[in-house]
Amino acid sequence: MSNKYKIALIKGDGIGPEIVNEAVKVLDAIASVENISFEYNEYLMGGCAVDVFDNPLPADTITGALNSDAVLFGAIGGPKYDSLPSEKRPETGLLKLRKSLNAFANIRPAVIFDELTAASTLKEEVIKGVNLVVVRELTGGIYFGEPREKKEDVAYNTMIYTKDEIKRIAKVAFDQAMKRDKKVTSVDKANVLEVSKLWREVVEEIAKDYPEVSLEHMYVDNAAMQLIRNPKQFDVILTGNIFGDILSDAASMVVGSIGLLPSSSIGGKVGLYEPIHGSAPDIAGQGIANPIATIMSASMMLRDLGEVKAANRIDDAIKAVLKEGYRTHDLANFDAKEVVSTEEMGSLIAEYATK
Ligand code: NAD
Repeated sequence: MSNKYKIALIKGDGIGPEIVNEAVKVLDAIASVENISFEYNEYLMGGCAVDVFDNPLPADTITGALNSDAVLFGAIGGPKYDSLPSEKRPETGLLKLRKSLNAFANIRPAVIFDELTAASTLKEEVIKGVNLVVVRELTGGIYFGEPREKKEDVAYNTMIYTKDEIKRIAKVAFDQAMKRDKKVTSVDKANVLEVSKLWREVVEEIAKDYPEVSLEHMYVDNAAMQLIRNPKQFDVILTGNIFGDILSDAASMVVGSIGLLPSSSIGGKVGLYEPIHGSAPDIAGQGIANPIATIMSASMMLRDLGEVKAANRIDDAIKAVLKEGYRTHDLANFDAKEVVSTEEMGSLIAEYATK
């Protein structure tokens, strides 16, 4: 009997369908050589859902996602939807989906491929060997805190975290560290913010359950600087919603192309796996998008489902294809032996993954 997984596919807008199709191609290739199979069900979210249902997150999509083993998602949004009221905007759909899945932990690995060190804006000696992961709290903090209001002459938001919210995200970070180099850097602004003082206390408390993991605290301003100065010092960066939003984008630039960064959003029964980039409307439909971030997200999905061997096949295939010198257009200037299309890149990774 093979392990069968029900995967909700949310392709979304722009390059979303192109890159998710390639990830599915790779998953199907894996299924042909490992003892696993996939049942895919497609759901609409984002602009394409607004077009059909006048709603960026139809109820059917939430139910379908919740009844799956995992959700593989492309990207949403586009200029056509920019002037819609906020409840109809594609991003609102994604925020609501994360809430519905109780996906309170966003995990973003930033790993540099040796072949692509030149793609980073930082010097090779600074980034060679970078392998860090940002664990960002995703469903709380200032993005959701009440009260919030904009009046004519004044506006405010509330940065709020409960002890329980901090505990659960800290546990995710320490669990990640146990599988890695056993170091957590908790990032806050405890010299100024009360909410950060509680954050520190709670993180210290959780750290006691993980005696093997070393914990350091860092102020967010220093963390931003250290990420650029010496990113190799980090293993797991644990932080809240707004600091994580900013730091994970900075960490992504350390690696070079935005098309190489996967993510997972976990915490509830069903995890959501997606590239960190958006729907790239400027290149949509041209067959030039880099599908690697989405394929790496599929690998993270398999790992979380317990299919470690299958995930390793994908990761090794990506490395091999890059080593062979195949590059999509975004990386054409970095030691490319051959520049390939989105579809060709997907096929190459699928082929190498079955070797
Ligand atoms: P973007 O990430 O879509 O694109 C930024 C730049 O990176 C563009 O030049 C694009 O061509 C390039 N790029 C992105 N992904 C690429 C890939 N896989 N391969 C090659 N090049 C790639 O960000 P943006 O332009 O600021 O936003 C476009 C739309 O995406 C907006 O509507 C925004 O709201 C939305 N967005 C969605 C998500 C999401 O779905 N999670 C995230 C960010 C932005």
